[in-house]
Amino acid sequence: MKGALIGCGFFARNQLHAWRDIDGVEIVAICDRDEGRLGEAGDQFGIARRYTDANEMFADGGFDFVDIATTAPSHRPLVEAAARAGVHIICQKPFAENMADARAMVEAADAAGKVLMVHENFRWQSAVRAAIDALRQGVIGMPFFGRVSFRSGYDVYAGQPYLAEGKRFIIEDLGIHILDIARALFGEVSTITASTKRVNPKIKGEDVATMLLVHRGGATSVVDCSYATRREPETFPQTLLEIDGTGGTLRLDADYRLTIQAAGENETRDVAPPVLSWAERPWHNIQESVAIIEQHFIDCLREGRVPETSGADNLNTLALVEAAYLSAADGRTVRLEEV
Ligand code: NAD
Repeated sequence: MKGALIGCGFFARNQLHAWRDIDGVEIVAICDRDEGRLGEAGDQFGIARRYTDANEMFADGGFDFVDIATTAPSHRPLVEAAARAGVHIICQKPFAENMADARAMVEAADAAGKVLMVHENFRWQSAVRAAIDALRQGVIGMPFFGRVSFRSGYDVYAGQPYLAEGKRFIIEDLGIHILDIARALFGEVSTITASTKRVNPKIKGEDVATMLLVHRGGATSVVDCSYATRREPETFPQTLLEIDGTGGTLRLDADYRLTIQAAGENETRDVAPPVLSWAERPWHNIQESVAIIEQHFIDCLREGRVPETSGADNLNTLALVEAAYLSAADGRTVRLEEV
């Protein structure tokens, strides 16, 4: 199976490394508007076909899928161009800048009969996945409370300077993953109440968000995110979990310790992710999830399955982001149908 990648920036290196490790997959073409980045990625990964214009790359063709690794403003035109070119699509998060664009992108891929998956990788982190699997197997009964928490003081602005510039920051960039984990654990959401704050005076958007979600299945969850939390040990980029169910409790604590207390048993497991050959701490957790989600995409293409994190599925995660900003701006609880 042949692929192409658009956007050779900060994160795309992880995506290119992971593609190289998947059996039967080859990235045959890359594209970036920035010739310097294009050249660096092409040289590092030995990819000869290089383009500064995605439309030219689509016109030349010769690949089955495209991996869109650019930032959100370019996602809609690139997804639509990919659909017109008749290739399957993986698109980075945030999937779109607004719900109308996101819905149009899902429709474009559907109309072309092509698979569209969002690179929503946090729920694929092996430690988080261990918790999702335990919950789905009913190990602690019906969950009625959850806390999904990401609190850090890590300098994300060094590698991704654009994060300091947007009017929106933590919910759109990081909270989107944490909200998606809450959906994966507790199902769809009926209402959300959010409060946001900017602590770091050097950035434009919010770097703290605290959100209360009422899930249709009956659970209530707290999703809290911060890039203003200076604490040792620094847990970046770990998502921590506290879940109470009718039959027991589950905790995913710092350093990837998963504790399940249920049916009279109390078991703590080390669910630390491996450090892949091209990965480095502390990013190895995220890097492993890139390899897992790309493998999932390829498996779905080969087996004719819809990816778990499809474009259509991701509309519900994006709706949580929009509803959280609306709630914080209006100071009220928002029903998801409103967005
Ligand atoms: P970046 O700015 O470093 O890289 C983006 C690249 O895309 C740039 O080199 C830019 O020149 C290129 N580009 C933009 N529009 C283009 C177009 N129309 N045609 C060709 N090239 C174009 O950004 P980044 O930090 O690598 O982030 C990229 C995306 O990945 C963002 O949406 C970000 O949120 C996401 N991301 C995801 C994760 C994750 O864990 N899933 C982690 C980090 C970043």
